[in-house]
Order: sequence, then C-alpha cells, then structure tokens
Amino acid sequence: MRVLVLTSGGIDSTTCLGMSVEKYGKENVVAMSVSYGQKHTKELKASTDVANYYGVEHIYINLADIFKYSDCSLLEHSDKEIPHDTYANQLAETDGAPVSTYVPFRNGLFLSTAASVAISKNCDIIYYGAHSDDAAGSAYPDCSKEFNQAMSDAIYLGSGKSVRVEAPFVQWTKKDIVKEGLRLKVPYELTWSCYEGKDKPCSKCGTCIDREKAFELNGEIDPLLK
Ligand SMILES: [Zn+2]
Repeated sequence: MRVLVLTSGGIDSTTCLGMSVEKYGKENVVAMSVSYGQKHTKELKASTDVANYYGVEHIYINLADIFKYSDCSLLEHSDKEIPHDTYANQLAETDGAPVSTYVPFRNGLFLSTAASVAISKNCDIIYYGAHSDDAAGSAYPDCSKEFNQAMSDAIYLGSGKSVRVEAPFVQWTKKDIVKEGLRLKVPYELTWSCYEGKDKPCSKCGTCIDREKAFELNGEIDPLLK
C-alpha cells in the first residue's frame, strides 16, 4: 500500500504524515505540497523540513495561477488584512459565508491534483488533515465530513477504483490531533501554521488561536512559543 499525503507544513497535515509513516513505512509515503500564492513561504519551508525529517519523497506543485482572481486575505496579491480574531467571532459577521481566509475550493482542487499525482505515482490512498474545528460553522466548507465523502467517492470512481481518500481527522478536533501527534512524536517545532509570515507566530490570527489552544488542552506549550 502506498500513500500520498497532502502536506502544508501545519500541525494537522504533519500529524497526518507522521501517522502514515508509522502505518505504511516511509518508503511507501509521498508528501505533496501545493503553493496557492500565499503571502509568505514559511508553510512551504516547513513542509520541506518535515518531509526531510521523515525521509519521504516530497513533491511540490504550484497552483498559484488558479487563485489569481480571488481576493482571499491569505493570498499574496490581496490587500485585505488577515483577521485577528477567533473563527467563531469571524463567522458571526459573515452571514453564513466562509471566513475571509477561505481559499476558494482549495481542498477540492488540492484533492483533485493529488488524485492525478497519486495515479501517476502508484499510490492507493490520499491522506489529508481536514478536521472538524475548521469545518465548524462552515468556516471552511471544504473541510467537512460530507465534502470529504463526496470527493472521496468522485476520486474513487474517476481513478478506476484505484485511489481512495482518507481524512483520518475529519471527526476530530485540533486537540485530538495534537494528542495523537504527541504520541507519534511529531516534530511540531518544524511546523508553521500562522497566517502571518513573521519570525514568531502572531498569536492573533484564527489558526494561531486554535493551535495554541490545542497544545494547552493537552497540557503542553506549542514548541514555537517556547
Ligand atoms: Zn498567526
């Protein structure tokens, strides 16, 4: 069994990578990172460092052109500010729409890209780190259980039943993910989640708030904040 893992350098996908290496062995794991034209390159550096740490093959794909029409606040060409607030507070003001850091259909595009690469690289499974906190309130609708199932079905059919998608954390919280990652001794010190590309995490954006809390709930301090 060979696995393609979508990695972004954050804690969810890095835990996913650690889990796949434990389950299938590093020689059967391929990590794939995607550039979507984000404001900084820290995530991509982190995903390279993490792939090197695990000794797995690392594929890098640039899909930035597809997002050049979007004004999502994470993108390099966007002059929108990245919100410094919790997702719950941001959602209270979006009237049911996704948050401003939602990259349009990102996971749909990433999974389709991964499916194509998985077939070419003889991988049977695509792993990715979608989890329930990001799907909550439809902040990121392309992280939900229903979306994952629909994409998984489509990819299974479209690949001639050779590739399936697994999102092992789809019903987990970030706290659960960190708990499993601590057991797996995931190198969280190499990861990066903050939407701002500064030297230290900003501690104010939605993903920083969630990440810090996930470590705290496990009685730990995020190694990036030590
Ligand atoms: Zn941040």
